[in-house]
Amino acid sequence: MNTYIKDRTAEIYPEMVAWRRYLHQHPELSYQEQATSRWIEEKLISFGLEVQVGVGGGYGITALLKGNGIGPTVALRADIDALPIQDEKGCDYSSTVPGVMHACGHDGHTAALLGAAKLLSEIKDKITGTIKFIFQPAEEVTPGGAKTMIEAGVLTDVDAIYGIHLWTPFPLGTASTKAGALMAAADEFELEIRGKGGHGGFPHVTIDSLLVSAHLVVNLQTIVSRSLNPVVPSVVTVGSLSAGQGYNVIADRATLKGTVRSFDETTRLLARKRVEEIIDHTCAMFGADYTLDYKMGYPPLINHPAETKIFAEAACEVIGAAGFNEPELIMAAEDFAHYLTVIPGSFLFVGAGGEGAEYAHHHPMFDLKEEAIGSATRILCTVALKRLGCRL
Ligand code: MN
Repeated sequence: MNTYIKDRTAEIYPEMVAWRRYLHQHPELSYQEQATSRWIEEKLISFGLEVQVGVGGGYGITALLKGNGIGPTVALRADIDALPIQDEKGCDYSSTVPGVMHACGHDGHTAALLGAAKLLSEIKDKITGTIKFIFQPAEEVTPGGAKTMIEAGVLTDVDAIYGIHLWTPFPLGTASTKAGALMAAADEFELEIRGKGGHGGFPHVTIDSLLVSAHLVVNLQTIVSRSLNPVVPSVVTVGSLSAGQGYNVIADRATLKGTVRSFDETTRLLARKRVEEIIDHTCAMFGADYTLDYKMGYPPLINHPAETKIFAEAACEVIGAAGFNEPELIMAAEDFAHYLTVIPGSFLFVGAGGEGAEYAHHHPMFDLKEEAIGSATRILCTVALKRLGCRL
């Protein structure tokens, strides 16, 4: 199995790189992936697959590969959206769209899954069961494309789902996953504090929103240090604070924005409760009013043990056992988590870092080692065939 997939991937690799570079040059933002979706559709049709477009009312696409004989259905998922970032790489495949860039590697995910779709289509007579290819829009923006795709029924009749992320913090030639929690739930809040503005020399007749906000930044830090279990990881970050204009003016309003990250629902809900209480009581202490908008983002990504075992085995077959590891928890969020709340499945990182790919995801200089796209295709093909119990 491994040899055939390895050889065939090597043959189509130049084409996959061309796909990735085309997508890299033509990125589209979340919920706006119209041309990307059309382009993927054409490729999938050329592979002879049954294609469904406009899934979930947006630009989601699914393609079905019906094998020779009855068996389970395995889904493989890629995300297809780009980010509002100006590409600063200045290479011959840089983004041609001002202010929009594939800075998270979703172009590589799309190319890798297209490669798997092409390769598996060629051997469909040898496949027992069904493979569903899911190309999901809007991973980068809440509520996220996964939720809409699930509501549209993409997981109906699917027995297991697998997804990968090309990951530059991990070197090329590695693969990383583990059972249980892997990536964080990411919730966000936006707060407006309304005090009473006035003259800086007459503070006693004002309510200073700036001072309230300063207390809040400090008080919110007690959630992780004093309210949550220290052996369970979590983060509360205030990422934005704005208040006041002049040196002699008491600020009438202040705004605060922050993110709350956790790996289980108990911690997640307790953190939210404490954010709400601390905001309420701190504002009350100074007599300020407030409006809080607390948005629950993606849930924690929890890998299913049995599917993760198969995924890890597939990865070891492709990259060798020495390249495989169980990573630390990752504080970034990923909407693949939604699929895993519905059916069994697993998410895996394919190392894509190295020379020329040193920058973090979401950085204007972001790039990835393209060889990782080939590894991703091989791992996706291998896990699907393994899960279906097919031997080539
Ligand atoms: Mn991503």
